[in-house]
Amino acid sequence: MKKLLVIACTFLLSASTIAQVRTGGDPKLSEIYDPAPAIVAPGKTNAEPPSDAIVLFDGKSFSNWVGTNGKPVEWTLGDGAMTVKRGTGLITTKESFGDCQLHIEWRTPAEVKGDGQGRGNSGIFLMGRYELQVLDSYNNKTYSNGQAGSIYKQLVPLVNASRGPGEWQVYDVIFTAPRFSENGILQSQARITVFHNGVLVQNNASIWGGTEYIGIANYKSHGPKEPISLQDHGDPVSYRNIWIRPL
Ligand code: MG
Repeated sequence: MKKLLVIACTFLLSASTIAQVRTGGDPKLSEIYDPAPAIVAPGKTNAEPPSDAIVLFDGKSFSNWVGTNGKPVEWTLGDGAMTVKRGTGLITTKESFGDCQLHIEWRTPAEVKGDGQGRGNSGIFLMGRYELQVLDSYNNKTYSNGQAGSIYKQLVPLVNASRGPGEWQVYDVIFTAPRFSENGILQSQARITVFHNGVLVQNNASIWGGTEYIGIANYKSHGPKEPISLQDHGDPVSYRNIWIRPL
C-alpha cells in the first residue's frame, strides 16, 4: 500500500513538473546539478590518452602484457611500436577489463605479401574471446565478415575505411561486456561500437558469441572482466598507442 502511494506521488509530482515547465513554471525543476560528471583532462589530440585512461602500451615496454601461457612477450619492440613475431603466439594484458573504451593503433606491413586472410592479419580479442579483426583490407578481397573492422565471422563492417599497407590505422572501440546469470545463462549479448580511422564501422552491434573459425559462434559464461589479447596470425602487424578507459 505504502509502495503504491509512493508510485502515485512520484507520478503526480513528475506530471506536475512537466506541466509547470510546459506552462512556463520554474525551469529549475528540470535541471540536474548532482551528480556532476567527473572532470577528465583530454589528451592534446584525440589520439592521446585522457587523464583517466590506463595506458596499456606506450611504445617503450611490454610491462602490461604477457606472452602465450604466461611466458614473457617475444614480439619485437622498437620505434615506439610492437610487432608480431611469427610463431611466438598471442599476447595478453595482465589486467582484466569488461565494459570499456579502447583506443588502439595498428599497421599492416608496407610490403604486401599474400592475399585475403593471409595479408596483414592480426586481431584484437576483447575479453580474450570476441575478435575485432585486424587485416590489410586495402584492395584486398576476402569474406566481408572477415575484413578489417569486422567482428570475425560475425558482423560485417558498415564500410571499408582502410588506409593502405604500411600506414598507421586507428580503432576507437566502445565495448559492452555480455552479462551472465549466476548459473551461467546469457542475460545480454556483448555490444560493440567501432570507429575505424574516425569512421563508424560497427554501431552498437550485438556480438553473437565467442569467435569461432568453423561453425556458429556461441556464448560460454565467463567473468565480468577478462584480459584482452592481440593475435599472432603469422604476419608482422604492428601496434602502438594503446589505452583503455574502463566504463
Ligand atoms: Mg585475425
